[in-house]
Amino acid sequence: MKPLRVAIVGSGPSGFFAAGNLLEQDDIEVQVDVFDRLPTPFGLIRYGVAPDHPAIKSVTKIFDRTAQHEGFRYFGNVEVATDVQASELAQWYDAVIYAIGASGGRRLEVDGAWLPGNHPSSDFVGWYNGHPDRRELDVDLGVERAVVIGNGNVALDAARILVTDPAKLSDTDMADHALAALRNSSVREVVVLGRRGAEQAAFTPAEVAELGKLPGVDVIVDPADVPAEDKERDKARPPVERNNLKQLRRLAALEPGGADRRIVLKFLRSVVGIGAGEDGASVATVSVARNELVEGTDGTVEAQPTGAVTEHEAGLVIHAVGYHGTPIPGIPFDTERGVFSNADSRIVGYDGEPLVGHYVVGWIKRGPSGVIPTNRDCARDTVSVLLADVAAGRIERSSYDAAQVERLIVDRVPDLVEYDGWMAIDAHETALAEEHGRPRVKLTSVDAMVDAAQRPSE
Ligand code: NAP
Repeated sequence: MKPLRVAIVGSGPSGFFAAGNLLEQDDIEVQVDVFDRLPTPFGLIRYGVAPDHPAIKSVTKIFDRTAQHEGFRYFGNVEVATDVQASELAQWYDAVIYAIGASGGRRLEVDGAWLPGNHPSSDFVGWYNGHPDRRELDVDLGVERAVVIGNGNVALDAARILVTDPAKLSDTDMADHALAALRNSSVREVVVLGRRGAEQAAFTPAEVAELGKLPGVDVIVDPADVPAEDKERDKARPPVERNNLKQLRRLAALEPGGADRRIVLKFLRSVVGIGAGEDGASVATVSVARNELVEGTDGTVEAQPTGAVTEHEAGLVIHAVGYHGTPIPGIPFDTERGVFSNADSRIVGYDGEPLVGHYVVGWIKRGPSGVIPTNRDCARDTVSVLLADVAAGRIERSSYDAAQVERLIVDRVPDLVEYDGWMAIDAHETALAEEHGRPRVKLTSVDAMVDAAQRPSE
């Protein structure tokens, strides 16, 4: 019996969890080829998780073990849509799982949102994490006040990074260009604006508690913005909401300590316009509308403007209002949700029928939600649907074999980076970091990565 051959597009957590799950199957032999458009694997683990949260990145040890499996191959620096087409993968493999995440950042649709000084969180986070596409981003930190729009964990990451003492970041794997910019930063205040109330915040308790522990940073929360403790009422709240409120009450009760830097958490506020300075060249002000909560038609709690609008100085605006996926030619896309059109982990055509042999996992399936382990369960679901389709004879087996496909890819992509190449990059980055007591010094250009991948081991 020929092994089942599966291509996984995207080497972030959802792609790697899917690969691991497939390769652990006992009753079917599976060969998995994982593609990534960058030479480096791990997606958001490398380019999304904040550098001061190293523990979260240790999941890559599991992925390294997956990569040691004899049925595993990594094809890095291969972009599906340019180097290889989706239609070709469909021919070359028995099944294809798309795990490309949601790399596009949403931006508020208000006047002034495209002025220099505005950055979607995807750009800002990619910049400080050394993503090759974002290394040239012009992040001007020569401003005193920054505004972060949104109330999720990405908003808190952005706010925390902007005010953390750079000395505390210099032993992380933050990109060198970002460290240099933060060392010279003039940012003294970061205002985080949630359009709904404290009870509806999307961030989680550990992340908001962490803000209160930052040395040299005051965290300001207006007690009027946080519902007072009410044991009965609090007991009935979902745990995240209950614990967020606990942390917010604690922060609201603190007296500002006259610290050099501060984070101000404000609720029921929406940015409704962004203004330029006198030269018209970049962000100088934000217009902020006051909201009240109303019940939406579907029972959700929505923000509605009261009509009160105030203007505030701000030289940097981070839009941390979510992410969206990027389409790939030939794969049906749900533009509203920013995901590949899918049902029960299968990609579906515009007629609603499954595209045989095509699956999704992670953010390109569910949208940008959940934490890293959420993708483990998501991958399990996708793989079980795929294997059920195989068992039921619903997918057509490919006539290609592993060696043929490798030849095709090597011909197309002279600078292909396989897992050994990634391990050479990894060794190079960690060697660069050793004398500085850092976990790694990231290479931030694809050329430098390819160069390190091709260098004989040091
Ligand atoms: P998120 O948790 O979905 O938060 C998005 C925020 O943007 C919400 O507060 C949302 O408010 C707000 N928003 C959306 N549209 C808006 C608009 N037009 N105007 C104003 N606000 C708007 O997304 P995220 O922060 O990007 O995080 C993505 C996922 O990664 C989440 O699951 C998050 O927990 C996870 N993550 C985890 C960590 C960690 O574990 N440390 C770190 C980073 C990210 P509404 O609620 O009102 O819509």
